[in-house]
Amino acid sequence: MQRQNKSKGVIEAINEAGLEAKVMEGSQQKIVGVIGDKTRLAAVPVDALPGVETSISISKSYKLASREFHPQSSIIDVAGVKIGDGTPVVMAGPCAVESKEQLFEAADIVKAAGAQFLRGGAYKPRTSPYSFQGLEDEGLKYLAEARERTGLRVVTEVTTVEAIEGVAKYADMLQVGARNMQNFGLLKEVGKCGKPVLLKRGLAATIDEWLNAAEYIMNEGNPNVVLCERGIRTYETYTRNTLDLSAVAAVKHLSHLPIIVDPSHGTGKWRMVKPMAFAAIAAGADGLMIEVHPNPAKALSDGPQSLTPENYREVMSGIKKLSAFMKEENIVPMTIG
Ligand code: PEP
Ligand code: MN
Repeated sequence: MQRQNKSKGVIEAINEAGLEAKVMEGSQQKIVGVIGDKTRLAAVPVDALPGVETSISISKSYKLASREFHPQSSIIDVAGVKIGDGTPVVMAGPCAVESKEQLFEAADIVKAAGAQFLRGGAYKPRTSPYSFQGLEDEGLKYLAEARERTGLRVVTEVTTVEAIEGVAKYADMLQVGARNMQNFGLLKEVGKCGKPVLLKRGLAATIDEWLNAAEYIMNEGNPNVVLCERGIRTYETYTRNTLDLSAVAAVKHLSHLPIIVDPSHGTGKWRMVKPMAFAAIAAGADGLMIEVHPNPAKALSDGPQSLTPENYREVMSGIKKLSAFMKEENIVPMTIG
């Protein structure tokens, strides 16, 4: 770590030793991350370099995503909406963009009840090739129109490298879905695209693998990564996935990145969305992703886990009261450090 203006000499010394320097600007200090073969570092008198306050060795395989590297919790700004600043953000909307009417109706509902983001897949990663695959480019245009209409930010999934440019043109935040969490080519390219990324946990990914996936994005120069716990596969079959709320506490300890929770995919059952949403906020999640459909019975995908407008309003009302209560009473779910 070092004060401003003196990083140049440090970076040069690191580069001369054949190592890579990653700089993170803070308001008080600059952090220079050194990446590469550790044995080469022996040739660099790190602590003696001008401007260096202190140096630490990061034991984890992920560095930029680790709290060791960046002790302060990160706040990610997505087109003016802050994620991780203590007020939970809500990303809500249909599983898939099905039509302009359906999307606008959903957008109006989630906006009125207090979401900050509209979600909705234009490119859908479906298990079966015969299922509805999404409206693709047309869907992206509807999402952009819904943003104009409501002022909501738009988060939508990108499933291939080829689709990144188009999605980035319309969305405020790119979602990398569970099925692509270890698609390293895709992770690298979203790391280069300049837009904030919502990285969902893989279907059977460990927390360590998930944070390494975030590292792939950050290593390309994109620090704006938000994690999303969406359940993992276990032997339990009653629920679609097993929502791992302990991941919220683990990630808060291991990483500075914000983490939100998706109780819709996490349970697969609309009845379980409300209790799990409340529990996620109580556990310290920075926000929620919730599927809402104007008429879940007619949804082209994930109807059984989608909330009706009425149920969604009930969840939102509870979330607002719960987070206000936690703030008022100074209830801090996780002590960092
Ligand atoms: C989604 O959020 O639209 C989605 C497909 O979720 P996941 O990648 O978590 O299955
Ligand atoms: Mn879905």
